[in-house]
Amino acid sequence: MIPFLSLLALIAAVAFGWEWRRRRRRKALLESRLSPAERARVAELVPIIARLPAALNGPLEGKMRLFLHQTRMIGCDGLEVTDDMRLSIAAQACLLIVNTEAWYSSLRTILIYPSAFKARDESEDGLVVHEEQVRLGESWASGPVVLSWSHAEQGAIDDVDGHNVVLHEFAHQLDALSGKANGIPVLGSSRQMLKWASVFSRAYEEHRQGVMLDRGSVLDPYGAENYAEFFAVTIEVFFEKPARLKEELPEVYGQVSQLLNLDPAGW
Ligand SMILES: [Zn+2]
Repeated sequence: MIPFLSLLALIAAVAFGWEWRRRRRRKALLESRLSPAERARVAELVPIIARLPAALNGPLEGKMRLFLHQTRMIGCDGLEVTDDMRLSIAAQACLLIVNTEAWYSSLRTILIYPSAFKARDESEDGLVVHEEQVRLGESWASGPVVLSWSHAEQGAIDDVDGHNVVLHEFAHQLDALSGKANGIPVLGSSRQMLKWASVFSRAYEEHRQGVMLDRGSVLDPYGAENYAEFFAVTIEVFFEKPARLKEELPEVYGQVSQLLNLDPAGW
């Protein structure tokens, strides 16, 4: 009996030590910052960062450090992953959650193609959010994220056109933290969830009607595909056309603002 208890105690001590080291490393990464050269490069690659309130610059850089430590970016079709790619993608992914407790805890791999790529899978098992057949990006609920670099780069550099494939795919990742990418992310309380469902289901139906009638909207017509895509295209304009989203869909803007704890219309 004693050896068995000793073994259990040893396993518990090893597990405790491993968890303690993991938390210490995570804390150190979150407290670390980019180098001046990296910071200057991020400002060129992701100009929206310049509008971020100054108090969020430190948390953004810490989260980028953790993101870059946790994930592996792999080039596909002969693409060589560069520091610019790593910095641009990390900055955009972390911008989305810079002022929240949310984290892409299961994400380990990001596949990067030079440009638009062909769909890899036709599965409809709910584990993957499908984009078009020739895709600019793809997000799997338990990872990976797949991106076209030419579109990811351009989407970040033009930060006012309402199109950003990295924000779009990471919106699916954020959405999937609730267990399923269905347009209902993790919300603080059942009351918040009811409010979210009420605002978003009404806005989604109006968007679908508007697309059918060819009415213009701040939101891309692709958002009429389903709730998950509606959430993802909303996130794109929340950052890139915040004033227009707030004007056209104030309740939707308010819900996303509360979710992300950000108010880009005021930046
Ligand atoms: Zn999508």
